[in-house]
Amino acid sequence: MNKLDKTKSSQELYERACAVLPGGVSSPVRAYRSVGGTPRVIERAKGAYVTDADGNELLDFVCSWGPLILGHANPAVLAAITIAAERGTTFGAPTPFEVELAERVVSMHPALDMVRFVSSGTEAVMSAVRTARGFTGRDLILKFSGCYHGHADHFLVAAGSGLATFGTPSSAGVPAAFAEQTAVLPLADMQALEDFFKTRGDELACALIEPLPANNGLLIQRPEFLTRLRELCTKHGAMLLFDEVITGFRVAPGGFTELSGITPDLATFGKVIGGGLPVGAFGGRAELMNVLSPDGPVYQAGTLSGNPVAMAAGLAALDQLERGGGWKHINKLGDELDDALRPVLQSHGANLARVGSIFWMSLAEGEAPRTAECIPSSAADRYTGLFHKMLERGIALAPSAYEVGFLSTAHTSEHVRELVTAIDEVLALE
Ligand SMILES: *Cc1c(COP(=O)(O)O)cnc(C)c1O
Repeated sequence: MNKLDKTKSSQELYERACAVLPGGVSSPVRAYRSVGGTPRVIERAKGAYVTDADGNELLDFVCSWGPLILGHANPAVLAAITIAAERGTTFGAPTPFEVELAERVVSMHPALDMVRFVSSGTEAVMSAVRTARGFTGRDLILKFSGCYHGHADHFLVAAGSGLATFGTPSSAGVPAAFAEQTAVLPLADMQALEDFFKTRGDELACALIEPLPANNGLLIQRPEFLTRLRELCTKHGAMLLFDEVITGFRVAPGGFTELSGITPDLATFGKVIGGGLPVGAFGGRAELMNVLSPDGPVYQAGTLSGNPVAMAAGLAALDQLERGGGWKHINKLGDELDDALRPVLQSHGANLARVGSIFWMSLAEGEAPRTAECIPSSAADRYTGLFHKMLERGIALAPSAYEVGFLSTAHTSEHVRELVTAIDEVLALE
């Protein structure tokens, strides 16, 4: 027996983890700090289910926070990974899989003439912003409060006080001088948008936004807001960057860009594009992408970028989705979830926000909010109770009130009904 087999509980494994990994994790939300308790250590998964180290099988709506649009351990993706790995796991040279995946994503997404691969969503957004800055010769960027763009220094920024449009660091370790190059506006606020562009639009390298903000609840924006942002960027010579790390290849083959009909200058991807392996990508119009090294002056590189095994996994995932009618399946499941869950939540003084296969329970009376500032703190308290009672019933939701849930092609109508029934029962106990 190896060491893992003897240490058979999440509790014991997590205690060991805490001695050698800060917070016992490799990414903070996994530590359950906002819901309390000991994180389930996941040992294996298949389809719609994960199995923890204690031997519990859980119906999973976290889906690794978005990548697993085909569910866990999809056989076609596993086969592609095996075939690719047998040919060698990295060469530091161009590979056929990389060319094929690039051709595929460029043909699928309306904003892309060209794409460059990286290894995470953070890296994609960081590199896309550098591209916009290099192309425009401007430093200032604009982001929106409630949107997440990864953990690069210039994204960990909160709105400055009062009328100042300078941002301030939202994490220790981020220099104030970096944060000053990021302006932060509230979502859904047309007037603030107009005022900002009037005063600082001509200094702006790019505006970045999750066109469907899905990292602080699901904050569905009015189409006019995105349309106006597009117009203002064009008018002031600023690039518009859609961060489609969650929405890309999920809400439609062409991401939220396809759904909205609004085309950004640059778009970023992660999560689904790697089929469960670490892949990110950014792309846009050719004239913009051509500023990248080696053709242009903007430096960007990666030892494992375009990794053949990861490229093969991404390609297999997109292939499966296309051939199996994957988007149709998950969007239909999303409709079923909506029909069943929305009235249940409303009967318990809550509401649902949902687009396609992405859903979020707003645990407060009234319409689901459009801005992060409108989410009351009481919602997080209610979520803590819901989260643990759902786990006891064998259903895994994200361990934070602000994280969305995902449906995959491995989910069925029965799974959706099981979820809705459990939520109804648990909220009735409140
Ligand atoms: C997850 C996410 C990122 C960061 O991606 P990582 O792969 O975690 O670095 C960036 N933007 C959005 C919209 C995301 O959801």
